[in-house]
Amino acid sequence: EELKKPRPATSDPETPLGYLERAATVYGDCTSIIYKNTTYTWSQTHLRCLRVASSIASLGIKRHDVVSVLAPNVPAMCELHFAVPMTGAVLNTLNLRLDHRTISILLRHGESKLVFVDKLCKSLIQDAISLFPPGTPIPRLVLIDDDTKEALPPPLSSSPAVDFLCTYEDMVANGDPGFEWVRPLSGWDPLVLNYTSGTTSSPKGVVHSHRGMFISTLDSLVDWAMPKRPVFLWTLPMFHANGWTYGWGIAAVGGTNVCLRKFDGPLIHRLIKAHKVTHLCGAPVVLNMLANTPVAEPLTHRVFIQVGGAPPPPVVLKRMESLGFVVSHGYGMTEAGGLIATCEWKPDWDRLPESERARLKSRQGVRTVGRNRVDVVDPKTGRSVKRDGLTMGEVAVKGGCVMLGYLKDPLGTAKCLRDDGWFYTGDVAVMHPDGYLEIKDRSKDVIISGGENLSSLEVESVLYTHPAINEVAVVARPDDYWGETPCAFVSLKEGIRGSKPSEKEMIAYCRAKLPHFMVPKTVVFQEDLPKTATGKIQKFILREIAKEMGSA
Ligand code: ADP
Repeated sequence: EELKKPRPATSDPETPLGYLERAATVYGDCTSIIYKNTTYTWSQTHLRCLRVASSIASLGIKRHDVVSVLAPNVPAMCELHFAVPMTGAVLNTLNLRLDHRTISILLRHGESKLVFVDKLCKSLIQDAISLFPPGTPIPRLVLIDDDTKEALPPPLSSSPAVDFLCTYEDMVANGDPGFEWVRPLSGWDPLVLNYTSGTTSSPKGVVHSHRGMFISTLDSLVDWAMPKRPVFLWTLPMFHANGWTYGWGIAAVGGTNVCLRKFDGPLIHRLIKAHKVTHLCGAPVVLNMLANTPVAEPLTHRVFIQVGGAPPPPVVLKRMESLGFVVSHGYGMTEAGGLIATCEWKPDWDRLPESERARLKSRQGVRTVGRNRVDVVDPKTGRSVKRDGLTMGEVAVKGGCVMLGYLKDPLGTAKCLRDDGWFYTGDVAVMHPDGYLEIKDRSKDVIISGGENLSSLEVESVLYTHPAINEVAVVARPDDYWGETPCAFVSLKEGIRGSKPSEKEMIAYCRAKLPHFMVPKTVVFQEDLPKTATGKIQKFILREIAKEMGSA
């Protein structure tokens, strides 16, 4: 009976913020951040975060106020993952590739009180704020100004200049390292507000709790078997789902954050070598970039890559393996608090031929240790689909890592987060007999041709094996007879561009490998495919283009 009593209000709820104090104790002398010529240790990072937190609090920021950040992967971005919530405020990292109209809408939607703005986003914030209707409270601004040599984007428009309260480093210098940070009242207190990147539609404000992110962060570390003191290269934008929780996770294992503003294939290879990088994450586009970068020497140490965010084509996985990278595949979603499933590798599979290994690895896998339940279900009845690798259903997930809900959108929340606690992802998948799930499409991306449901991913996987293709996305094109037919948008590899293969040739290539109804009826060659900040192809834009083409 005694054990059933509710915990006293004074007990400390779980929060990822606690990882930082521990890192300062255990890993105090270890390098926490490397950025250009600057390095910090974990004890320095701890004190810098406390100082920034005290400066934020001294501006009158209170518990549950929203504080936004508009910055690339610079040290301030790492520190603000701790410093902002240490004041009790909710951290809102914004996608700096959004246009000023969207940024303006998001700042007002979240009622942001304070925004940390990187130097390169000065004109973006200026234009965003100029769109605030008269009488709307304007957030205060702090400038993140490291001595980057990058050219500032030209001031846009005639919007009036904005005033910055101070710089980020002023906040560090004037802050109090003895600041008593504000602990959450309950584990369900909000920690972050993350607007989803908008692969499918307009952004939605996902709110996550301290407890949810505490579990989710540890889960990401366990599922990837992250060792102590990894060297982590930030090729994933931290503003996207808190860098898949590694924004806090690297502190938990006393690792080093290698920060950068921008990257390409050669820079990643250089940094891997210079800092002995052990881990990095990225959408398939980052792997593709690495796979297509010629390297002078092979890797001299093991580099682990976690790929996710979009389905990785098996050929790209194969190529990465042959370059010596150790690739793990995770499947997740902002609303699910990070990972949902990982393709946990079985030692037996090492003996299989290369292409079979790649095919197995491209499956999204099994629920992570930190997710209570993950299943592929019939969305109408909620019942599990047959484990036959053929019957399609929707991926649903349940547990403490799932979002609290969408900010100011109870209807939107109720649509996907049901009363029984199951969250419906909108991803269409099959369950294999071995209990591993495989995503076939997003429900919005499924193509229905002549009444048959057709997975755009299967068509893409075949096209990716064509040696001339760099990237491909297949979407529905309206058709008077079939309803919809597959339309492939293709970008070709460098060097191929001169003697590009024809549409006919691509169609014939697919015809030899796919059932007739899955063969694209249209192939559009484009220099680049439109992408989100994490490098996911924005199919909704391509779908619009295909729609405008009309019936084939
Ligand atoms: P957005 O919905 O704006 O893309 P998210 O980053 O939350 O924002 O995207 C989550 C979605 O990305 C998932 O619902 C799924 O469709 C897709 N996704 C993520 N990881 C994978 C993966 N490993 N394989 C296939 N699809 C993935």
